[in-house]
Amino acid sequence: MQSQTYDAIVVGSGISGGWAAKELTEKGLRVLLLERGKNIEHVKDYVNTTKGPWEYPHRGRRTRAMELAYPVLKRDYPLNETNLDWWASDQESPYTEVKRFDWYRGYHVGGRSLMWGRQSYRWSDFDFEANVRDAVAIDWPIRYADISPWYDYVERHAGIAGSQEGMAQLPDGQFQPAMPLNCGEELIAGRLKQHFDGKRRIIPGRTANATLALPGRSPCQYRNACWLGCPYGGYFSTQSSTLPAAVATGRLTLKPFAIVTEVLYDRNKKRATGVRVLDAVTDQVTEYAARIVFLCASTLNSTWLLLRSATDVWPGGLGSSSDALGHNLMDHTTSARARPAESKGWTTSITPGAARRGSTSHAIAICSATNANTCAASAIRAARAVRGGRARSLNWAWVVRSRTPRPSRATGRSGARPSARCCRTRRTVSPSTRTRRTSGGCPCWRSTAPLARTSA
Ligand SMILES: Cc1cc2nc3c(=O)[nH]c(=O)nc-3n(C[C@H](O)[C@H](O)[C@H](O)COP(=O)(O)OP(=O)(O)OC[C@H]3O[C@@H](n4cnc5c(N)ncnc54)[C@H](O)[C@@H]3O)c2cc1C
Ligand code: SF4
Repeated sequence: MQSQTYDAIVVGSGISGGWAAKELTEKGLRVLLLERGKNIEHVKDYVNTTKGPWEYPHRGRRTRAMELAYPVLKRDYPLNETNLDWWASDQESPYTEVKRFDWYRGYHVGGRSLMWGRQSYRWSDFDFEANVRDAVAIDWPIRYADISPWYDYVERHAGIAGSQEGMAQLPDGQFQPAMPLNCGEELIAGRLKQHFDGKRRIIPGRTANATLALPGRSPCQYRNACWLGCPYGGYFSTQSSTLPAAVATGRLTLKPFAIVTEVLYDRNKKRATGVRVLDAVTDQVTEYAARIVFLCASTLNSTWLLLRSATDVWPGGLGSSSDALGHNLMDHTTSARARPAESKGWTTSITPGAARRGSTSHAIAICSATNANTCAASAIRAARAVRGGRARSLNWAWVVRSRTPRPSRATGRSGARPSARCCRTRRTVSPSTRTRRTSGGCPCWRSTAPLARTSA
């Protein structure tokens, strides 16, 4: 068994691991970045990035065989032919669900930073004070003012495009120029503003796509292909942004195919002293030592690692003294909550589930990012509700008017059936057409519409 020593070890090279590696190396530490999966080199390994749909056997879409092989991933849009290699195999890495838990994983250098939806929102004091206001759980130990400078710092480096709106519930940031709304969006935004006296709005999604050049990165070319890796470095990923910064210091060692299986703990020093690593190719076990061990293997894998690192000091797993380890976890939500700010004959609250099912029949909502992963995309979808109609996730198409009212299956309340029209072709899309399936018949899937492409 070899042994090697560094100043810091970072486990996992996804969004958080990339940032940790950048920050620690820039502060002068020699850092070992351990990644369980293969390397994906920036630009060189983005093999599908310039392909058109006609260049895939199934036009880039999903097949029955894929649905059988990926019973979890098939629950949402990531399952398709264009970047399947980048998703962890449901068969090779299965897990037990006591109740449904969607876990979409990317096991390679860059983690999910290569495939994420890039929607990037700040929490506000509404979020930090929510526990106190609602009398649930414990109060957050920080407030927006504490974290605001760090949002500034991250946004400047990552390159977030967004508009300054002055909304308390969705604080503004250090944004690059927003991608403008397209003509259809402008139309709806204008009507909404007019109808609600400016109190409810549709705004451009805040997205980690650079609209201005950053060091080593070109601005986004509006190709709508970000889940394939970007040869321009147009969107934020470990590969495009934090990894090059860490590498530039000369203090980073990156090791792909290094599965960390345990955090080593010295009971006398009462400190973590390093990690044990299984080589995914050779099965060789190696121990690495460092004064700092940063677990950035994602919520569930970092927890798994701590649980595996049980000692007689903490039989429940490293750091399990509060009994919280392994409980109350959230990996990523694909739906956020949207609430009408004021109600005047409108519903006063929309549950996330209802919003997801599209069963909220009469809501106008301001996008409000309320969860840790800032997936406001779903809230934005909910905010697509128009007068007399209701929100339905018809990406790349517009909900333009309501038709035959029908009772909601979930609530029994009378809803309204939206019809949708493609913003380019003006073709009407069937109300029953499911999310994203619209892309099949609509050239807008290559359009630049930022709001219409919110896909977290
Ligand atoms: C389809 C999709 C869309 C999303 N869209 C958005 C969005 O629009 N906005 C938003 O804010 N968030 C979004 N997210 C969530 C976001 O991607 C994650 O919150 C974020 O990537 C988490 O970062 P992380 O570093 O914790 O984990 P990851 O990015 O998952 O990185 C974890 C890394 O650790 C590695 N690893 C795991 N276990 C080990 C081990 N034992 N040893 C070594 N390495 C290990 C993994 O291989 C991986 O590379 C989206 C997620 C998905 C799946
Ligand atoms: S849309 Fe922009 S960021 Fe995304 S892949 Fe194309 S150029 Fe890159």
